[in-house]
Amino acid sequence: MGQRIGIFGGTFDPIHVGHLVAAVNAKHALALDRVVLVVANVPWQKAGIRAVTGAEDRFALVEAAVGGVPGLEAGRQEIDRGGESYTADTLQEMSDAHPDSELFVLVGWDVAGELATWERIEDVKRLATLVIVNRPGAGRPRGLDGDGWRVEEVTVPNLEISSTDLRARAVDGRPLDYLVPEAAVHFIRARGLYAGGR
Ligand code: ATP
Ligand code: MG
Repeated sequence: MGQRIGIFGGTFDPIHVGHLVAAVNAKHALALDRVVLVVANVPWQKAGIRAVTGAEDRFALVEAAVGGVPGLEAGRQEIDRGGESYTADTLQEMSDAHPDSELFVLVGWDVAGELATWERIEDVKRLATLVIVNRPGAGRPRGLDGDGWRVEEVTVPNLEISSTDLRARAVDGRPLDYLVPEAAVHFIRARGLYAGGR
């Protein structure tokens, strides 16, 4: 029988426990076999607005963070494809590679409210069930049910953590510990990432 696979796309600049708590709870609630945290190569909605950490460093952080968690993996499909990253392409690639699997695309409330701006959204609708998780600071999006989506909502602990806040903390010299998994914090220190200047 095919697997139930969750695709959780993000910039992960850096990954934090908000991402991981959402991923493991969605995995549990929907009995997914695995959740792939797919690291955006060029997040087209962020490029040009701010400097984004190199994709390989962001990928290494995700790998370090999911290391000990069964069923969570770091995905490098978008990095390997190169160029701008579109979820529609990632889902098509996953569907081609695992034709008998069932795909689920995970998004927080903030991103769920922006789906209309996604590239080839009809392909995303066709290829996957949308999984929406609550996130502080954003409202629950409405109207998706009537819009042709297959939707699941999963309630996760509200964690008011964002990569934006973590980057600001790093610049100020405030601690990232316990907001970012320890192995990822080590990598950040070893590589000197987020060390001021932006
Ligand atoms: P940034 O502040 O740079 O945008 P971020 O914290 O929003 O970073 P992203 O990589 O943009 O992280 O988000 C990837 C996905 O994770 C999105 O679907 C987003 O809604 C979800 N997400 C991020 N943080 C949380 C959180 N604390 N709780 C639930 N979902 C989250
Ligand atoms: Mg974000």
